[in-house]
Amino acid sequence: MKLLEGKIALVTGATRGIGRAIAETFAKQGATVVFTYRSSVEKAQSLEESLKAEGAECLSFQADAADFEATQNVINGTLEKFGRIDVIVNNAGITKDNLLLRMSEEQWDQVINTNLNSVFYTTKAALRAMLKQRAGSIINISSVVGLQGNAGQANYAASKAGMVGFTKSMAREVGSRGIRANVVAPGFIATEMTAELPEKELATWLEGIPLKRAGEPQDVADLCVFLASDMSNYITGQVFNVDGGMVMA
Ligand code: NAP
Repeated sequence: MKLLEGKIALVTGATRGIGRAIAETFAKQGATVVFTYRSSVEKAQSLEESLKAEGAECLSFQADAADFEATQNVINGTLEKFGRIDVIVNNAGITKDNLLLRMSEEQWDQVINTNLNSVFYTTKAALRAMLKQRAGSIINISSVVGLQGNAGQANYAASKAGMVGFTKSMAREVGSRGIRANVVAPGFIATEMTAELPEKELATWLEGIPLKRAGEPQDVADLCVFLASDMSNYITGQVFNVDGGMVMA
């Protein structure tokens, strides 16, 4: 049985890493996959080929997640082509790390715009359609850093914590109309985002992970399938860590 048969799912920032694993796993589970990216045209083409090889219908948009108009075009294009939108995974995200004393306004704004404002943009643009459908699942990819903070990442932590408050408010606001919203908070996942960490820092992270390994993008994708599917129909407003036990409430 395919868990996402017949669902139209949008994944933002899907050309590599966690987003790519989510898009590919959704396709394997029978979803029609719409995805966005900012700059990686070749990787987007390779993802389209991989999704089609799974037998999935797909549609891609080169669209900056931090741009409201571009996001509206993504949602409108999806609705024009497929007539509905069942799942949104807000995955596009960046880091611009610096200690607070050295952090520029630009570093602050870029991270907040890309990681947090983008979530408002996709939700705002898709909400009317989801309300009419009386169904929808929104999955916001936050981070354990948004839950416990991290020195040198005040901008990133603020953006990821903001996603949690946004998601809980949304879950309360539109739950009665059949729309669910949840947060996935990955810990340390092996992707290009974490590839450049110095050995010493990597060892410190691993030390604090009970399962003693970095996570794989697939570990995050598998939870997203569950949250996108009807198997999680009674789950909303929750935060799920995928972190090998790094953070325990
Ligand atoms: P990644 O390897 O750096 O991939 C980021 C993806 O997002 C790329 O496909 C990139 O596409 C896209 N993207 C970046 N900025 C964008 C924008 N403005 N508009 C549209 N797409 C954009 O990152 P990742 O490690 O897979 O992380 C994915 C998400 O998980 C992020 O939200 C991140 O904060 C979160 N997360 C990651 C970890 C981890 O350990 N890796 C831990 C916790 C949370 P282009 O190259 O085309 O720009």
